[in-house]
Amino acid sequence: MIDDSSMTAPVQMLLVEDSQDDSLLIMHRLRSNEEPIAMTRVDTAFALEEALEAKAWDIVVSDYHLPMLSGLAALEIVRRHDAEIPFILVSATVGEEVAVDAMRSGANDYVMKNKLARLLPAFQRELRESRSRRAGRVERDAQRSRIDRLAHFDLATGLANRASFEENLAVLVQDAAAKGAMLAVVVMQLDRHATISGVAGRHAGDEIVVQAAARVASLTHEPAAIARLDADLLAVVIRRVDANREAVYAFQQRMSIAFRAAFVLSACEYRLTPSLGIAIYPDDGTEVQILVRNAEAAAARAHAGSDPYLFYSRQMTVRDAERLALENRLRHALDRDEFVLHYQPKVGIPDGRIAGFEALIRWQSPELGLVHPDQFIPVLEETGLIVEVGAWVLRQAALDHRRWCERAANVPRIAVNVSVGQLRHRDFMSIVAEALAGTRASPAIDLEITESLLMENIEESIAKLAAIRELGVGISIDDFGTGHSSLAYLARLPVSALKIERLFIATMLTDPGGRKLVATMIDLAHSLGLKAIAEGVETAQQAEALRRLGCDEMQGYLVGRPAPWQETATLLAADGVRRREVSPVAPSRALP
Ligand code: C2E
Ligand code: CA
Ligand code: CA
Repeated sequence: MIDDSSMTAPVQMLLVEDSQDDSLLIMHRLRSNEEPIAMTRVDTAFALEEALEAKAWDIVVSDYHLPMLSGLAALEIVRRHDAEIPFILVSATVGEEVAVDAMRSGANDYVMKNKLARLLPAFQRELRESRSRRAGRVERDAQRSRIDRLAHFDLATGLANRASFEENLAVLVQDAAAKGAMLAVVVMQLDRHATISGVAGRHAGDEIVVQAAARVASLTHEPAAIARLDADLLAVVIRRVDANREAVYAFQQRMSIAFRAAFVLSACEYRLTPSLGIAIYPDDGTEVQILVRNAEAAAARAHAGSDPYLFYSRQMTVRDAERLALENRLRHALDRDEFVLHYQPKVGIPDGRIAGFEALIRWQSPELGLVHPDQFIPVLEETGLIVEVGAWVLRQAALDHRRWCERAANVPRIAVNVSVGQLRHRDFMSIVAEALAGTRASPAIDLEITESLLMENIEESIAKLAAIRELGVGISIDDFGTGHSSLAYLARLPVSALKIERLFIATMLTDPGGRKLVATMIDLAHSLGLKAIAEGVETAQQAEALRRLGCDEMQGYLVGRPAPWQETATLLAADGVRRREVSPVAPSRALP
């Protein structure tokens, strides 16, 4: 609009001037302005007021001394109407101090009549500046409406968000309350959504949600009330629900039919099964937030139990709510950068040199503090979030390795733990390859996979691991001794090390036969051409026993606890310095 007016419409100028001659003089000075000027002249306070009331002006030029009106009084009147319209004072007699006074009272400029050549540049400058001020205001308004959109809509999909859903629901609840009616809040958890986002990218995940929302919209009378509560949570409201909940069952039926067809995204097909959680107003709550929370709890329960739908019931206990809260926090932990990797060194026996690091994930939750993986990995597994988080761990470890290489020479390899959901994923190979793609040198990342996991599906494991080894990634069997491997299978697995489970190390010197058991595992490793690595070594006695048994490497609190990479980098730098000082044959660090 502003651009249009500056192109075509004439500049609306209000001239406060009593003398016809002076008016002509002023207009003559302005004749070479690029835009045409539509001038209106007034010479009394009354006429000025009327003109200001009548329409919006682009600029006011005023004489300083009129018989019926002073320039400063005119200025005051103009400012009362519009604080920002440019006001230029023109005067024959004005002294410096009067001019300064006028500027202070809000005039934009003043021009002496004997230097009228200044008028045109002043006029043009004031117009230009006033327009950009106005454009700035328009920009600010646009920004405000963007912020408003942000507050009410999911940025990625344009769907209404939780805040907006709750606002709409409040209106519908009020309406139902007035009519003594019931309504249902239905929350739909889209199973497999997290996996799709993890593999095909977040954008694909968003796209699927948009498609899913469109299908839901075609089934409801309240399409406007559909919202995205969370990455994989949609919500709708169903009105006209009666005691036998007919409308809800009908909706669920239509939903399951509507989701039977696959979702297609760049030639790939994805199947989503929604788990529905339902909370009824007023039975399950009269407050909006409680209704939504209860419907979410029911959806989470349905999802966990593979039920297509569940009505909220009071038996869905505090535990559900806690678990749900944990799940929701975990969903955001990646976005909010709350995961960190700690590194624990493995050292060679007997030389004590750092032979590698194991990356161990920690969750730095603002609400819960530092959370250990045993508490949240199972939740990540169940929700499918493990795929995305696991990919992050690989990328982060590769990044940290690169940063280490900038600080020290001969940086050892980093081992990353892999869990069921990751290994089972059909794109596991490409997830690993992608994470390592950034590393310039040959990727120095290895994987640790638990014995029981490998043995569950041995043929598939063998094929996958062989492919991964092609990428230059070494594989260790983790928690060895707990998974009942058959020797025949062990020999076929493309792995390079066995990590003896901490439990066996902890009891090797106290349990009868404990030492023998560890000895057998070490011998087994060696006979298969694999390295033996002991986990959880806490005492010097254990270390000494392991040395005698010919164990190759060890890891545990005796050597070092898991620590953030900055601390480990220091350790590594010290190790590197020592390497350069000692002769190649002498061990650089005696065993403790
Ligand atoms: P794990 O692979 O058996 O890792 C070794 C665990 O033993 C770590 O616990 C480590 O901190 C602990 N540990 C090391 N030395 C000693 C010691 O001398 N004494 C004792 N008592 N404990 C020791 P953490 O960090 O709590 O990790 C627990 C498990 O969580 C790991 O067991 C691993 O299976 C899993 N995990 C950790 N990070 C990741 C990850 O990034 N991805 C996946 N999928 N799993 C992970
Ligand atoms: Ca491990
Ligand atoms: Ca272990």
